[in-house]
Amino acid sequence: MAVTRGAGRGAVLLDKDGTLLKNVPYNVDPARMVLAPGAAQALRRLGALGMPLAVVSNQPGVALGCFPEVALCTVRERLCALFREHGAVLAGFFYCPHHPKGAVAHYAIECDCRKPRSALLTQALAFLGVTPQYSWMVGDILDDIEAGRGAGCRTILVDCGNETEWRYDPQREPDFVVEQLDAAARIIAAQCNGTPAERIGQEAAT
Ligand SMILES: [Mg+2]
Ligand SMILES: [Zn+2]
Repeated sequence: MAVTRGAGRGAVLLDKDGTLLKNVPYNVDPARMVLAPGAAQALRRLGALGMPLAVVSNQPGVALGCFPEVALCTVRERLCALFREHGAVLAGFFYCPHHPKGAVAHYAIECDCRKPRSALLTQALAFLGVTPQYSWMVGDILDDIEAGRGAGCRTILVDCGNETEWRYDPQREPDFVVEQLDAAARIIAAQCNGTPAERIGQEAAT
């Protein structure tokens, strides 16, 4: 039987600010890019699974004129180094530089890649050659969840206090809610190892 690249294989997509890293608004200074609580352990756990790991991030600071798009190259390098330090490989850094109210004309558009829309995730999954339904989106706000569901992924909300609006509708309902990133990684690892879905929540809690 011919092997189709990526068939049945999933990826893990991580939001950056507030999920993987401590949230520092509009930051592109690598020295201020610090892992969130539980993120170091999560990278180690996820890195051991062999699934591609990628970061998907809204970066409206480009459109708002806070920093040039090229500054995100340094961010990508720092992310690569952080992943490597913790036994993981960054398979991709995907970002949306747009904002409808941006100050930089080229980026001031209503786009399809800004979360909660799902085009950024769809592009990431296609680039990684993986199947959406075997993939995960992990984020700290419901916009991440909506984007993940829109792209066909399973979703985990890391509820560490960053979501404040709680504008719920069925498209924004996460599959799992945890308090820090390593608990999300444990759920993903358990699922990879074939643990029945109903037991995963319990294992994540232990
Ligand atoms: Mg976030
Ligand atoms: Zn965009």
